Amino acid sequence: MGKRVNGRTIIVTGSASGIGAAIAKGCAGEGANLVIADLDEVAAQGVAREIVEGGGRAIAVRVDVTDRSSVRAGIEAAVAEFGALDVYFNNAGMNAPLKFLDITEENFELVMRVNALGVLIGTQEAARQFIAQGTSGKVVNTASIAGRQGFANFAPYSASKAAVISLTQAAARSFAEQRITVNAFAPGVVATPLWKKLDEDLAKIGAADSGFDSMSSDILLGRPAQPDDIVPTALFLAADDSDYITGQVIAIDGGMILV
Ligand code: NAD
Repeated sequence: MGKRVNGRTIIVTGSASGIGAAIAKGCAGEGANLVIADLDEVAAQGVAREIVEGGGRAIAVRVDVTDRSSVRAGIEAAVAEFGALDVYFNNAGMNAPLKFLDITEENFELVMRVNALGVLIGTQEAARQFIAQGTSGKVVNTASIAGRQGFANFAPYSASKAAVISLTQAAARSFAEQRITVNAFAPGVVATPLWKKLDEDLAKIGAADSGFDSMSSDILLGRPAQPDDIVPTALFLAADDSDYITGQVIAIDGGMILV
């Protein structure tokens, strides 16, 4: 175990579960101070406890990424506990699949609000904090292969992840002068709790055949990802190794989408 993010303070949104929890544990294992920021406060506390019991440093904060004051409070909690903010992972996300003709305004707005507006707010507030500190900083966004290619049964999700890619590029251009880098990674199919609900929801709309198993069958490397497959790239984007990289999206999908 190295210490690639030693002493850095890192907020990971959506880190009570799945990919975010794996990233948080991976960063804590490399010496970082972690803020487990999630809507689900009880599960967030569980992840923070696990890190602390393993000898790491972590606190849990209830954060709703769609609510600016809550996002700001999460950053203030990080600074109060650990002194400064160094890296902000905009990772929280959700899906609510519907066939294209059934998509409602409410469905579109819900998914865009969490996945796209949440990334805008998180990036703005993290950048404001870095600028106020007078330090450089890193923002790392969780995009998706669905941001590179639209999927029939989750068009709003695909649109929201394309928005994450655009926001990553626009923010990289906006904050380069302050030496704040903004990058994203794009997972393919990752075995997390997100898929349990997604498979149930797809079955309800008569689209069970576009679920986890069918998506996993198209992967060049022959298997879906586990959350731990995402961690090395996330760590790279949080560490000094990626200092000369900004505005980029790194696919971590076993070769599903070749662009
Ligand atoms: P997950 O459901 O296991 O975890 C998502 C977490 O986000 C949950 O703990 C949830 O409480 C939290 N969350 C949801 N809405 C929130 C909000 N408004 N504010 C704060 N927290 C909120 O899902 P996961 O698979 O780990 O997904 C993490 C990210 O990876 C998401 O952005 C998702 O879109 C993306 N992604 C997942 C996959 C996959 O196959 N699992 C593929 C590509 C991208």
